[in-house]
Amino acid sequence: MPTLYFTVLFVIAVVAMVGTKLWLASRQIRFVAGHREQVPSQFAGTIQLSAHQRAADYTVERTRLTMIEVVVSAAVLIGLTLLGGVQALDLAISGWLGRGYLGQIALVAVVIAITSVVDLPFDYYRQFVIEQRFGFNRMSKRIFFLDRIKGTLLGAAFGLPLLFVVLWLMNQAGSLWWLWTWIVWVTFQMLVLVLYPSFIAPLFNKFEPLKDEALKNRIEALMKRCGFAAKGLFVMDGSRRSAHGNAYFTGFGAAKRIVFFDTLLARLSGSEIEAVLAHELGHFKRRHVIKRMLVTFAISLVMLALLGWLSQCVWFYEGLGVRPSLIGGNSGLALVLFFLALPVFLFFVTPLGSLSSRKHEFEADAFAATQTDAQDLVNALVKLYEDNASTLTPDPLYTAFYYSHPPASQRIDRLLRHA
Ligand SMILES: [Zn+2]
Repeated sequence: MPTLYFTVLFVIAVVAMVGTKLWLASRQIRFVAGHREQVPSQFAGTIQLSAHQRAADYTVERTRLTMIEVVVSAAVLIGLTLLGGVQALDLAISGWLGRGYLGQIALVAVVIAITSVVDLPFDYYRQFVIEQRFGFNRMSKRIFFLDRIKGTLLGAAFGLPLLFVVLWLMNQAGSLWWLWTWIVWVTFQMLVLVLYPSFIAPLFNKFEPLKDEALKNRIEALMKRCGFAAKGLFVMDGSRRSAHGNAYFTGFGAAKRIVFFDTLLARLSGSEIEAVLAHELGHFKRRHVIKRMLVTFAISLVMLALLGWLSQCVWFYEGLGVRPSLIGGNSGLALVLFFLALPVFLFFVTPLGSLSSRKHEFEADAFAATQTDAQDLVNALVKLYEDNASTLTPDPLYTAFYYSHPPASQRIDRLLRHA
């Protein structure tokens, strides 16, 4: 492909992505604001107008912030690629550290550092201005920065050795290096999955065994009914950071754990917690978890094969504003450009992922309705929507594009049909 064609294609994709994101966000803001004055009739008895308006304001503020974020990240992306940012970094770093492993690892690390520094003020604003204003923030600034430092160290501890292995394979494993890299990547993902519950998550939160005996008996009975084995029920101090509540499964095989946020336990009744958990069990029973994992692995194989091809094409580098070195050692460069450009093209398949995720949510709800009283899940959903200030009136197109969960009204409609 001629270099210019690729540049034009990339620019069109960036403009289309930014345009679509801004258009969808502005639709969402208009729709939510337009339905601010009245609680939808379906929720008239359960949600107060003040709570509905709070949810509308919260949604509008968060969406506005993402609009600024979209523009800034696109500017940084163009700056790094077409305006020569990566090219300048590559020249400076290879001049200093050479084009060996050290220089290439440094290039990747510096570009990741730049993109995280760009995200930082947005994360900070979201947490200490928006979340704070709506009463969700429980985090001190110390925890906020400590989390980032821990995350960076963890990322370096896992990421740098992985990056070295990938670069080594790219240089040494011949034309099928991407296949080997994929095997390494899948193994690495499995390893993180095994290590996460007992080694990684405790770096950020405290986990204590669930003490409430009545609730424990209730959950154990549910798991027995569904033929589900887990190695423990834990309570996590989610309230240290945020008032938002949640529950999740972690680990896999026999080492699965169930984790409840303390904020969730404080708000829901025993039967509602059971219903929420039955929904999560539904994801396992309907094999959503394993399906999602297999799809991710399949996509990453295709992506790595694509990278294997692109890294050989001069137009790929030059089309993104970089002159590859003629003496070699371009693997770090190829990785950086690929991971900068990829999300732009993948953005357009977002609705497919969202659609399949929403389908899974309906299936998990249907499962929960067979194991527990559907009305309990409805009550839990209403409470969670209210507590999280999630809007009950999202824009339908915005929902179709991004929402991993169906809107509350649709979920409740279907659940009540089971009740
Ligand atoms: Zn779910």
